[in-house]
Amino acid sequence: MRILVVGGGGREHALVWKIARSPLVTEIYCAPGNAGIAGLATCVPVAAGDIEGLLAFARRAGIDLTVVGPEAPLVAGIVDAFQAAGLPVFGPSRAAARLEGSKIFAKELMQAAGIPTARHAAFMEAGAALAYLEEHPGPVVVKADGLAAGKGVVVAPDTATAREAVTAMFGGRFGPAGQRVIIEEHLEGEEVSILALCDGETVIPLLPSQDHKRVGEGDTGPNTGGMGAYAPVPFYTPEIAGEVEEKILRPTVRAMAAAGCPYRGVLYAGLMLTREGPKVLEFNCRFGDPETQPLMLLLQSDLVELMLATINGELAGTKIDWYPGAAAGVVLAAGGYPGPYARGEAITGLEAVPPGVEVFHAGTALVDGQVVTAGGRVLCVTARGEDLQAALDRVYTGIKAINFAGMHYRRDIGYRAL
Ligand code: AMP
Repeated sequence: MRILVVGGGGREHALVWKIARSPLVTEIYCAPGNAGIAGLATCVPVAAGDIEGLLAFARRAGIDLTVVGPEAPLVAGIVDAFQAAGLPVFGPSRAAARLEGSKIFAKELMQAAGIPTARHAAFMEAGAALAYLEEHPGPVVVKADGLAAGKGVVVAPDTATAREAVTAMFGGRFGPAGQRVIIEEHLEGEEVSILALCDGETVIPLLPSQDHKRVGEGDTGPNTGGMGAYAPVPFYTPEIAGEVEEKILRPTVRAMAAAGCPYRGVLYAGLMLTREGPKVLEFNCRFGDPETQPLMLLLQSDLVELMLATINGELAGTKIDWYPGAAAGVVLAAGGYPGPYARGEAITGLEAVPPGVEVFHAGTALVDGQVVTAGGRVLCVTARGEDLQAALDRVYTGIKAINFAGMHYRRDIGYRAL
């Protein structure tokens, strides 16, 4: 099979790495890819958002399966466009991707289906939202309705911060994404990411993972796209897993089918394990980054087979095999990230990383034969071990070999599990 992976981050590098291990695969293309992906796939200079360009390439290259990494093309309808052209594609339709593309859609679906989530109110204009805040003092979470590149959520400890967030969103800080806003109850507990394969009817969860969104150790400082992740999560017990399947995953898939938009692809539920049980913080319509990096190291089954079963509605009865132990990925970020950062810094030592440690590229480029930084999250150094500590020891040993000007990373990935 000839496979096209859409995207160019650490998640896509990990997907390409795993797809390359499938005996079904003869050729892999990645659009646009990055310097690391170029070692495993032919990078194609077409942007992930250029649906027409991707379609033209897929036709020209005789692609047998397209795998979409990022949310923006999914929400924009890339799957509908490929299906209309008769090309097999892994990911939810535009209507199904609304689970991530509109937080209000997701909230209304959960409310109607009785799926546990934070209580919320939705607003179309600032005045009513500000009035609501006066009546609901204390910590709340303010969310832009649409896609905001992971930055549309403000956890507001007090009313002043919440007011500021509401004003900024309706003032256009996130463009059209912030013209509708949700204010929701602040939940407390441990966060877990559950990624599940869904074929429209059957839902099969992958191993539980945990992301680290804050830039600083001990979960301090501003939010990022994710500074590291590990899997599995030891405090996600079989009892909790059963409850999540029964009260969250299956009802969501049923409700999507009943709404006329059956969900096919990866359903990612960001959960808070509260004292009252697991509750949904958000849904994403694709693989998580960086959760995908450790998950791909743990996945023993053939990813391409699983994706084909997903798009063909044949997941029922499928068993996913995992390697024993645990895996972790630590993100090496550019100086200044998540604020403004430099690009074009030379990355050294990649060849000196010991075997068994995978360095997934996120924001890198190849300039005159030299790998340089080209994004805020630059690399995700990932390894598997007999347990989490062993995986982390491998990762942090691997990191010692790598350097670039301004490089920073968290030294405490996985601490909540240890
Ligand atoms: P989201 O993109 O909705 O997952 O939000 C990003 C982050 O904000 C989450 O990973 C949580 O850390 C936090 N968050 C979102 N919603 C809530 C909530 N209702 N209560 C507490 N924290 C939240």
